[in-house]
Amino acid sequence: MAGTPPFSEAEPPASRLLSLTRPELAARLESWSINPAHAALLWRYLHWDCVTSLGAMTALPAKVRSRLAAELGGADASVAPAVARETLSSDGFTRKFLMEMGDGRMIETVLMRFAGRVTACVSSQAGCAMGCVFCATGQMGFGRNLHAGEIVAQAVHVQRLLREAAAAAPGQHRLRNVVFMGMGEPLHNYEAVMKAVGILHDPSGLALGAERMTLSTVGVVPGILRLAEERPPVHLAVSLHAATQAERADLVPVAKKWPLDELMAACRLYSERTGRRIFYEWTLIEGRNDSPSSARAVGRLLRGLPAQVNLIPLNPTAGYAGTPGRTEAARQFQRVLADEFAIPSTVRQRRGIDIAAGCGQLAAALQS
Ligand code: SF4
Repeated sequence: MAGTPPFSEAEPPASRLLSLTRPELAARLESWSINPAHAALLWRYLHWDCVTSLGAMTALPAKVRSRLAAELGGADASVAPAVARETLSSDGFTRKFLMEMGDGRMIETVLMRFAGRVTACVSSQAGCAMGCVFCATGQMGFGRNLHAGEIVAQAVHVQRLLREAAAAAPGQHRLRNVVFMGMGEPLHNYEAVMKAVGILHDPSGLALGAERMTLSTVGVVPGILRLAEERPPVHLAVSLHAATQAERADLVPVAKKWPLDELMAACRLYSERTGRRIFYEWTLIEGRNDSPSSARAVGRLLRGLPAQVNLIPLNPTAGYAGTPGRTEAARQFQRVLADEFAIPSTVRQRRGIDIAAGCGQLAAALQS
């Protein structure tokens, strides 16, 4: 195993082990002349017991622990990023975590519980380069890509809390769904996100199936084409927000680089190759894109495609003057899609609004 590369110095130590797949973990031990069979226990500590420090891995042989201590910074080194702040929504359904990545970067993770579903919303980047005008993360600008382990760590953190809750009360205590809809554009950090998807999918770990992970893109066409080729175990959501090129480019600057017709061609190819329906996300902004005529424009755009439209009332942010589309407008939008185009749709609840659960809002509040 002489070819096993050293840990990336660019990656903060706390997430380095979580960046490794199970075979990579075994190869790492072998490269240190340690029996790779110990990787199974190490993996279990990380992905099943969800421990936060090396010190908790008491059943590992001393030789393994001392080598890990040397690599990660001490016998009690952290193996998970620290939580800098946690907030709970007033309805109790949403918990938001501000996580410190070890180099001062802050990212957000959200745990949502409703209708018997437990979902983690994870970030893929610190900040975002896409600049969507209504988004707190976009208003913040780009920080850096997250490493695979930093993405995995967010899901592991949520699972750790669920395990702790399971000890106290019965109920749904297993993380069943992960959505890549937190800070950042996942397809702008393709390699790390896909590696994280593979690790989360591992049946010996969190074992999240293809039906349980959804990746949301604002329209990075090369990434969608790559997904169509590689078909990783994730669902795809595409943020549309407007049904004409001019209106979309106003809201989502990335549309100037990848225009609407190119985006729709990529979506069509994705659905043909994978046989999967795409979720099209539509942020409802009052007076801007919440009218029946906007709904008809969406219907015409998606006609013939396997599609579901998710309507999301705007999360107000300090940097954008728009207001959320009203409930009646959302219902009318849905009726047009259903009656005139037979396109199913949902209206996403704005749960957690009182804890700034729109992506980037907690981090922005902390930095202001
Ligand atoms: S909505 Fe998503 S892609 Fe757009 S700026 Fe915000 S985080 Fe980035």
